[in-house]
Amino acid sequence: MRPSPEAFAQTAQVQNEILTSKREQVYTNLSAKLRGSVVTPASAEYEVVRRVYNGMIDRRPDAILRCADAADVRTAVNFARDKNLPVAVRGGGHNGAGLGTCDGGIVIDLSPMKGVLVDPVTNTIRAEAGCTQADVNYAAHDFGLAVPLGAISTTGIAGLTLGGGTGYLTRKYGLTLDNLLEANLVLADGECVTASASENPDLFWGIRGGGGNFGIVTSFLFRGCPVRQVYAGPMLWKIEHARELLQWYREISPVLPDELYGFFAFLKVPPGPPFPEELHGKTMCGIVWAYSGPVDELGNEFRFLREFRPPKFELMGLMPYPALQSMFDAMYPPGLQWYWRGDFLLQITDAAIDEHLKYGGQLPTFHSTMHLYPIDGAASRVGADETAFNYRDAKWSMVIVGVDPDPANAEKITTWTKEYWEALHPYSLGGAYVNFMMDEGIDRVRAAYRDNYNRLVELKRKFDPNNFFRINQNIAPNTRCN
Ligand SMILES: Cc1cc2nc3c(=O)[nH]c(=O)nc-3n(C[C@H](O)[C@H](O)[C@H](O)COP(=O)(O)OP(=O)(O)OC[C@H]3O[C@@H](n4cnc5c(N)ncnc54)[C@H](O)[C@@H]3O)c2cc1C
Repeated sequence: MRPSPEAFAQTAQVQNEILTSKREQVYTNLSAKLRGSVVTPASAEYEVVRRVYNGMIDRRPDAILRCADAADVRTAVNFARDKNLPVAVRGGGHNGAGLGTCDGGIVIDLSPMKGVLVDPVTNTIRAEAGCTQADVNYAAHDFGLAVPLGAISTTGIAGLTLGGGTGYLTRKYGLTLDNLLEANLVLADGECVTASASENPDLFWGIRGGGGNFGIVTSFLFRGCPVRQVYAGPMLWKIEHARELLQWYREISPVLPDELYGFFAFLKVPPGPPFPEELHGKTMCGIVWAYSGPVDELGNEFRFLREFRPPKFELMGLMPYPALQSMFDAMYPPGLQWYWRGDFLLQITDAAIDEHLKYGGQLPTFHSTMHLYPIDGAASRVGADETAFNYRDAKWSMVIVGVDPDPANAEKITTWTKEYWEALHPYSLGGAYVNFMMDEGIDRVRAAYRDNYNRLVELKRKFDPNNFFRINQNIAPNTRCN
């Protein structure tokens, strides 16, 4: 006799419960081996801990292993490999494509690992891989030092450094990865190694741009750069002046002294102080400046910049570097919907400006924006084959960002971003900064590395031949280009 649908459903439920309780037992046993904790769907904090920064990403891992130290990371790697489970690695959880989480597998979460040690004798900063930019630069600032990091202080240093790291100090001190001296990693076989110019130099080459493809970094050693106060902030102009501003900006940005950095933006003005009421909600164009040179030369530098028409609004001032790094944090809290696309640029032609005016003038939502981040100066004085990060000839890294709190607008911001990107892509160098990519396929990953791609494939074959670390901008071991 065939079982009734009710009896069948009951049996399935019992089987499911047995499986779930077995799985829970496995994770309880694992948790006894960790100094950190294991969060599963049965844990009260699961719904919070499974979330990443991009609210568009909604994945449900089997378990999140919240590591307290390198030994925990090693235990987690060995566990996942033995059980043949997919693994996502999380630092700050800011990756736009949601590569810090997964469905079904486990997340090795380093965010509890936030130790920072500043050595004022050697001017170096050792930071554990769960640090955010704020964790590092607040600690370093007390010693008059900084690591060149990005524009929002809640971003994780791990994903940022391993992909590149561009920001206010790029023209003066290079990319974040140019200031990396050493990293400690756990490899796919559980071995713990150091990568530096003298130890495993091939691996050191690969992790400076190759992302999380080769292993899990547990700590970074950075060169501390002398920075205390910066003169910085935004200048905004009416959108009607965008063409003129972009034409001026493309000429002056590459010839400014290294300590003067300005990223171009299309933006909507926030509806509150310190912005004047008549500008609230208006679409404008602007440049966010950061001057990190001697304060007594400030007047000269900014006199030159003020030769362009006076801005409609500006908020410039002397401030500690960590204050600049967190200036825009409040506008971009975790949980918003994000869709972004990028490309590297050598030039900004008149035809490209036409497209910028068309799409940049029509920002679909209040938080949406387009930025042109300078990556010349010190970053361009490193050879294209000296690190895995290849685009040393580019002048800007462009990112088009559709953002909104409301999931109902996800399609609208995605469509705007894709259309804007498609219009601009023909004017680019062909590839994007890996940290500004969504899930765009292998050809885009290849384009992100150009001539360095095959060398990365060789490294992948050496350090992770089974592609254990594959939830990333993946460089699979069998994808050499001819
Ligand atoms: C609001 C915002 C502002 C940003 N601004 C900038 C900017 O100014 N400049 C810039 O360069 N980038 C910027 N980014 C992009 C940023 O560099 C990437 O999103 C980066 O992936 C974030 O790193 P994370 O550790 O927070 O990411 P996660 O989501 O935690 O991790 C991303 C990926 O990095 C890898 N990874 C993470 N930790 C490790 C580890 N310990 N070992 C090995 N692999 C690891 C994994 O492959 C993982 O999938 C910004 C992003 C956001 C959301």
